[in-house]
Amino acid sequence: MLILLAAALTTAPCIALDAGHGGPRDDGTTALEHKEKMLALQLVRRVRDALKGSLAGYDVVLTRDEDKELSLIDRARIANKAGCRALISVHINGSVEPVMHGIEAYSLDTQKQRYIRRVGELASAQASDIEVILRDLKTRRHAARSAQLSELVHQNMLRSAQSIDDDVRSNGVRKDLLLLLLAADMPSMLIEVGYLSNRRERERLLDARYQQALATGIAAGVKAFVQ
Ligand SMILES: [Zn+2]
Repeated sequence: MLILLAAALTTAPCIALDAGHGGPRDDGTTALEHKEKMLALQLVRRVRDALKGSLAGYDVVLTRDEDKELSLIDRARIANKAGCRALISVHINGSVEPVMHGIEAYSLDTQKQRYIRRVGELASAQASDIEVILRDLKTRRHAARSAQLSELVHQNMLRSAQSIDDDVRSNGVRKDLLLLLLAADMPSMLIEVGYLSNRRERERLLDARYQQALATGIAAGVKAFVQ
C-alpha cells in the first residue's frame, strides 16, 4: 500500500524541449518561404520522438507544440513548473553573410558584466539584495552542468550530422547571457542547428533524413547527460 502510494506521488523525471520563436509576429529567421519557427518545431518533435524511444522512464515536455507566441520567461516557466532535469532550446541561425554555416551551442554566461543586473531584473521589480543573491546562487548552481549539457548535445549532434554530410561545420560551444537560460531553474542550453541563410545548409535543414540525424544526435546528447 505504501509502495503504491509512493508510486502514485512520484512523477517521472522530464526533459523540456523549446522550439524557438512562434506565433504571427515572430517567425525567427526566414529564407525564401522557410521560417525558423516552423523548422524548429519540426525538429523538436523529432527530438521528442527520439527521446521517447531511447530514454526510458522520462517524460518530454514541449514549451510549444503549435505555432504560437510565447515569451522567453513563459518558456522557462513551463520547464520550471514541470521540474524538468534539462531544458534544450532549438533555433536555426541566419546571417547577412551567405557563406556562414555551422552548428553552435550556448550555455549561460555568468561572467558577463551585465549578468548580475539581469539577475536582479529577473528576480522581481522591487527585489531586495538578498533576493538577488539567492537568485544568483540558484543560477550559478546549474552553470557547470549547463556547460556539460551543451558540450554533450553539440558533440553528439555534430557527429550525427556529419555522418550525413561532412560539410557540416562546428562553430563551437559558446557562452552568452540569454534570458531563457537565465530564467531556467535547471541545466539549460540553446542550440543553433545551422544557417537558413546558407544555401547548402538550408537544403540540408529541409531534408527529412538530415533533420532526423540532428534530432537523433540531440537525443543522444541528452541521454549521455542524464545518465
Ligand atoms: Zn532563433
